[in-house]
This record gives sequence, structure tokens and C-alpha cells, in this order.
Amino acid sequence: MILHLRKNVSARDKKDLLRRLALRGVQVHYSPGSDEAILAAIGDRKAIEEENLEAHPAVARVLPLDTSFKLASREFRPERAEVRVGDLAFGGKRIHVMAGPCSVENREDLLALARELKEGGASVLRGGAFKPRTSPYSFQGLGEEGLRILAEARAETGLLVVTEVMDTRDVELVCRYADIVQVGARNVQNFALLKEVGRTRKPVLLKRGMMTTINEYLMSAEYVMSGGNYDVILCERGIRSFDSATRNMMDLASVPLIHHWSHLPIIVDPSHGTGHWRWVSPLALAGVAAGADGLMVEVHARPEKAYSDGDQSLLPERFRNLMSDLRKIAAVVGRTLA
Ligand code: PEP
Ligand code: MN
Repeated sequence: MILHLRKNVSARDKKDLLRRLALRGVQVHYSPGSDEAILAAIGDRKAIEEENLEAHPAVARVLPLDTSFKLASREFRPERAEVRVGDLAFGGKRIHVMAGPCSVENREDLLALARELKEGGASVLRGGAFKPRTSPYSFQGLGEEGLRILAEARAETGLLVVTEVMDTRDVELVCRYADIVQVGARNVQNFALLKEVGRTRKPVLLKRGMMTTINEYLMSAEYVMSGGNYDVILCERGIRSFDSATRNMMDLASVPLIHHWSHLPIIVDPSHGTGHWRWVSPLALAGVAAGADGLMVEVHARPEKAYSDGDQSLLPERFRNLMSDLRKIAAVVGRTLA
């Protein structure tokens, strides 16, 4: 349930309301930016109804919440949220580009690529140190060494760092190095992991699973937010379809739809969404045209030698071309590129 408090609510009435909710075992979340005037009361619906909150002197309005996701809903937070990471705000007028290799492979290559990406206009460096590979015999990532290399690239270029965490036991470690922690498509319903990143106050990039509905996806965001971490950035990265001509099917309809249902920012990842570099730029442009708040793209200086996802990696030069096209599309839809 969403409660709108009365404008000049007294401290005493408010305290009484919160005490009643606490006694019923109800969780309270304030809508950020509402000066604690809008709150979500989450708990046993019957118990909440028994409180007859409409008659409480602190309460102006009670809105039943029919959506399964609550904190992620527009009812809870009518305005679009801006997720701040360092100097960047995801969900504002500016769109931000996260770029980098699929995996961190070695120090020299990553530092060289990071410099190029910075020059090309990226604002966040991506690179996996813990890789979710289909085969246990494939390259699994450099682990903490990879995180150290990412941190060095940040120190040198000023790019922020996004990198994936796959295991609850690594959340603390990855948070120490990353500016944004990524929960990948395969872990979108790893509820233990979602709860663990929900306990941190680190911005989370939550990728859509290859078989999650939009409702399920927003419920996953809800897991993170219900832990008190509201800084969730969503990412459409394609879903499984019947057609193997592309690796996944970019569901671009999810972008305006999620903006309609939720206040959370959403970016698109056409690299995993299509699986081939040739389709990456057109889908990146389409994603921004559809209202995406940013992009994630894989870039590699020698894609044929990449440890993972070489086929879908752009050469740095193609990345620069994409950025220049992106500026034009962004302007058309009233956005700017950082
Ligand atoms: C990645 O970003 O490298 C990745 C593994 O993405 P996804 O979880 O979307 O497959
Ligand atoms: Mn990848």
C-alpha cells in the first residue's frame, strides 16, 4: 500500500502511525525525494487493512498497490529516478555509455583500450573479472587481479567501473573495486545474490534474464530495493527467441514499457542482445531512440583474439563512429551524450 501523509502532519501522529505499522510487522520505505510524505507499507495486506489507515490523522490518502512490484513502481515514486554514480546521473537528460571488453584479459590491453574509450566519449568502463561461462572449461576471468586492473584504469582515465558479481561471497570484494556492480542475465533470479547486493549501498546494474518476463524482471529489482538499496539501473540485453540468426532478441519494447511502469533508469546492451558486431550499432541507436538512458557495448582492439564474446565486440574505430551517430540520435529525442 502507498500512503500519502497529510501536509502538516504532527510528529506525534506520524510516530503513532509508524508504531502501528511496526506492531503489524509492516516494512516502511519512504519514496525518495518526497520528503517522507509518500511511503510504501509492505507486509500482510489483511493486517494493514485492519489498521483502517484512512482514518488515521497522519494519513491523507491510501492507494492500494495492485502491482506485484512496489518500490520499483511509478505509484511509489511518480517521477523518474536518477541513479547517481560519481558525477553521473542515470535517468536524467544525459545518456551514458558503458564500454569495454567482455573480460578483463591483461593489464596492458585494458589500459590501452580504456584510454581510447575515454577519448571516444565513454563514461563507464566495463569488463568482467568473474565471468559466467556456459562451459566450466572456458576462461573464467582473472578474479581479484582483474578488479585491480579495472581500478588502475579508472585511476588513470577517470572512467567509472562496472563489473559483474556472481557469488554472494564476492559481493564485498567486488564492491570494494567497482563503482557499479553488475548482476548478469544468468543471475537475475539468484535471490540470495539480489538480497546481498540489496544490503550494500552500491549502485547495481541489473541485467534482464534471457527468459524473464518484464514483471519478473521488476520483481528482481524489487529484491534489491527491498533491502534498502534503491540505486538500480536496469539493462535490456535481449531474450531467447526461436530464431538463432541472432544470439538473442533485443526486446526494445521493454524500454518504453519499463519507463511507463517503473521510475528506474534502463539502458540497453545490443552486444549481448544481438551477438554480432554488425548489428550492435543499429540496435544501439534504436535503443536510444526508444528512450534508453544509456548503453552498454563490448569493445575489443583485437576481437578475433578475445577470450570471450569477440564476435560481438566493436573495434575501437567502430565505437567512435557509433558515438558520433549516437550524438545525432540523442539530440533528436531531446537527450545529450555525456
Ligand atoms: C556481460 O556483460 O559480459 C554478460 C555476461 O552479460 P549477460 O549477463 O547479459 O549475458
Ligand atoms: Mn560478454
